[in-house]
Amino acid sequence: MSNKKDINENDLLQDIDREKLFSEINDNKMKDSDKSSFVEAIMGNYFLDNDNINFLEDYGYGFWKYLDNEKCICLSDKKFKDCCKKKMKRQKGFEFVSLVESLDSEETYKKYLSDASVNLNKIIEKNIQESKCSFPDCDKKAIENFLYDFSNIKNNYLSVVKKNILDTRFTMGENFFQPVESEMFSFFGFCEEHDNLTSLESLKLDLNSSQLSIAMFNYRNLAYKKSRLENFYQTIYEEFIDNYLNVSKEGYQAMMVFKLRRTINSILAIRNMFEKLKEAIKNNDFKEFNFQSFELKKQDNFVVRDLIYFQVTPKSYTVINSVNNPLINEDIALISLFQVKKSSIVQFMYLKRSSKIESYFQEWKEINEDKLNNLESWVTNNALILTDNILISQKMWSKLSHEDKILYSALNKFRFENPKPGQEFIKMKFFAGFQKGSNFF
Ligand SMILES: [Zn+2]
Ligand SMILES: [Zn+2]
Repeated sequence: MSNKKDINENDLLQDIDREKLFSEINDNKMKDSDKSSFVEAIMGNYFLDNDNINFLEDYGYGFWKYLDNEKCICLSDKKFKDCCKKKMKRQKGFEFVSLVESLDSEETYKKYLSDASVNLNKIIEKNIQESKCSFPDCDKKAIENFLYDFSNIKNNYLSVVKKNILDTRFTMGENFFQPVESEMFSFFGFCEEHDNLTSLESLKLDLNSSQLSIAMFNYRNLAYKKSRLENFYQTIYEEFIDNYLNVSKEGYQAMMVFKLRRTINSILAIRNMFEKLKEAIKNNDFKEFNFQSFELKKQDNFVVRDLIYFQVTPKSYTVINSVNNPLINEDIALISLFQVKKSSIVQFMYLKRSSKIESYFQEWKEINEDKLNNLESWVTNNALILTDNILISQKMWSKLSHEDKILYSALNKFRFENPKPGQEFIKMKFFAGFQKGSNFF
């Protein structure tokens, strides 16, 4: 029997001068400078909850709506009120079903997807017509390129990539990894000559490859990602202009803003990296970039050519990117994994000014000094969760239990598409991963 005295809430609160407390709250004695540093701190949070967001809204930061004086959503230098706000349409008697709203049922979702795809297909068509080779100093027309060429890959692979980039409906409890088709990885990035030049077959990458060769390969992979994201951004931008005012429910309008904010954050980071890399390749000068390469035991379970979004440094827990906070500027690294004769190589490349990514690698190496056998799980875990374009071999996938397939699917998609239901998985895997030194960030 415990002889500890039971403490109830009333005991704890009896000494508090309630009158004084209420009057302090009402006076709101926080200094303006404290308020602004508090706001800054919230804006840097890894995960924004409703209280954080409400606080920001209360202090004049538009989170769920675009404010007049914000930089315009078309990314011109103008203010929103002087630019695209004037183009927004209101159609009498027309109620637009937004993506979030449509997620409620299979029926409305199909309708959303087919309506929205009309716009998307026009944009893709227009971008194909106008597409020029992205290689420095080449202005030939781009031809159709493929991120992955399946004629040269012997294994059967699975991927979460969908042909229609607007199709973002993923249901918890389902397996999202489906057999790949070349079409999922099609893009118009380079002319024939530069399509060949930047391909893995002609670059023949290995551990001793030059920075230029590594950069050209990563540039190609970035071009794929950029072309898909540009199409996506332009589609939801138009959707916003045409339909935002035709959504009557405030909550759904807010989600349209949130989606646009996240996409703008991504497109700015990708465009910036793309221009820097193009310039560096042109001059064969990579002083603005850091490279990290690791040699793994030969494996053919995974292939990845993508961007990677590290989330938090593994020791000091510094936020690099966030699942749901578009106020943190995205900071990206490029990742490519390829096979050489007796091993597999994983290559990372990022801008030197991305000091948080540099810290990420340093801290990871400190933690894992004596655990280098965790390298493979670190790479595969990272690639599985923090990239979109990973290919997983059918052979490896078929050995997993049903529960693991669901878990990997959820980790890959819900993290970013829908962070809230993914929270439990994330927490669980986060702590399990740190213990083993192969963290999921
Ligand atoms: Zn504008
Ligand atoms: Zn070219």
